[in-house]
Amino acid sequence: MHAYRASLLRFDDHGQPLFDADGLLVVGPGPEGWNRVVDAGSHTDVSRRHPDVLVTHWPGRLIAPGFIDLHLHYPQTDVIGSPAEGLLPWLERYTFPQEARFADPAHAAEVARFFFDELLRHGVTTALTFATSHLASVDAAMAEAQRRGLRFITGKVLQDRHSPDGVRDSTEQSLIDTDTLIRRWHGRDRLGYAITPRFAPTSTDVQLRGAGELAARHADVWVQSHVAENRDEVRWVTELYPQARSYLDVYAGFGLLRERAVYAHCIHLDATDRALMASSGAAAAASPTSNLFLGSGFFDFAAARAAGMRHGLASDVGGGTSFSPFHTMLAAYTVGREGQTKPGESLAPSHLWWLHTAGAAQALGLPGVVGNLMPGHEADFVVLNPQATPLLARRTAQADSLEELLFAFIVLGDERAVERVVLAVP
Ligand SMILES: [Zn+2]
Repeated sequence: MHAYRASLLRFDDHGQPLFDADGLLVVGPGPEGWNRVVDAGSHTDVSRRHPDVLVTHWPGRLIAPGFIDLHLHYPQTDVIGSPAEGLLPWLERYTFPQEARFADPAHAAEVARFFFDELLRHGVTTALTFATSHLASVDAAMAEAQRRGLRFITGKVLQDRHSPDGVRDSTEQSLIDTDTLIRRWHGRDRLGYAITPRFAPTSTDVQLRGAGELAARHADVWVQSHVAENRDEVRWVTELYPQARSYLDVYAGFGLLRERAVYAHCIHLDATDRALMASSGAAAAASPTSNLFLGSGFFDFAAARAAGMRHGLASDVGGGTSFSPFHTMLAAYTVGREGQTKPGESLAPSHLWWLHTAGAAQALGLPGVVGNLMPGHEADFVVLNPQATPLLARRTAQADSLEELLFAFIVLGDERAVERVVLAVP
């Protein structure tokens, strides 16, 4: 066992923040070998229960749960910051040519190494990411995540139509490959597999039906895709599936809405769609920097909450403009404030933080496992320095409440504030 003394941020079961200005976090090996939180709370209380534990002191620092990124594309690391006329031209001009390179295992391994370095530099300790349509892309990312001991989920992209040579796969083989990869990687150490149709327009009915059958056969495997990101895309889906009630309904028809199914964007949904998300247990990955960058629209956080629809935050790199959870939370705040296409609201800083940690874990179907520092959770955490930059130091010194402190990090923070990342690796 080992203990860490600093300020400490956790969340209760209702998503409310718990804060100890002088906190103590005790971690020790769990049954599978990963370190877990043994005890946490104020230094006075916890040190009394664990008088003999060795303590590392981090005065003036904030310990917080490692961030969870609910949706991004590791092969698009080299696409970040590419200018284009919206989503569909951006895919054709930049994304598909880059993704085609992941047929080469050496290229995939090199990008995977860089990608995980970057995630960890930014304090992201769990991610649900797309790979590409190539098996090598999944093997490279899984192997690298396993080497680092991360809790990490990815899957081979399914796209057997409306896709250029180099990324288009073949229907039957793609489903066989998915099954092979599930057996190869799912549940190994902290790794999970996600059945990954890119989005409805790039898969045939046969491929989507096959994906749904795999999702039914492997109930604890994840599903990830995109839905209702922008209006051109929604129109295209309406032309392809005139019989479906909505874009989301296409996925429902193929058995792809269930718990552990995470859909990026979910912007252009109606009340019936949101009710369907809620009743199925599927979750939305709100990707605000990407949505602002590509001009896609504004995720309606209030409507999602009112509908009881699970949701959390995501970077959506390379459509997203940053790996930084702080940048994502700030963009989510901006999107929440937008009041022309929906009612505007000010999301509380602690709620934004929850959406990127404990709330994201709930959306992912991993409550009690990651995203929080309550006893029993895997001990992935970040140590934040409120004095990382002159302006952050000046502003946080004047913070009168937890909400003010967290908001200063959200508005002014970046990877410089992430002083260290501690993983649950013994
Ligand atoms: Zn995406």
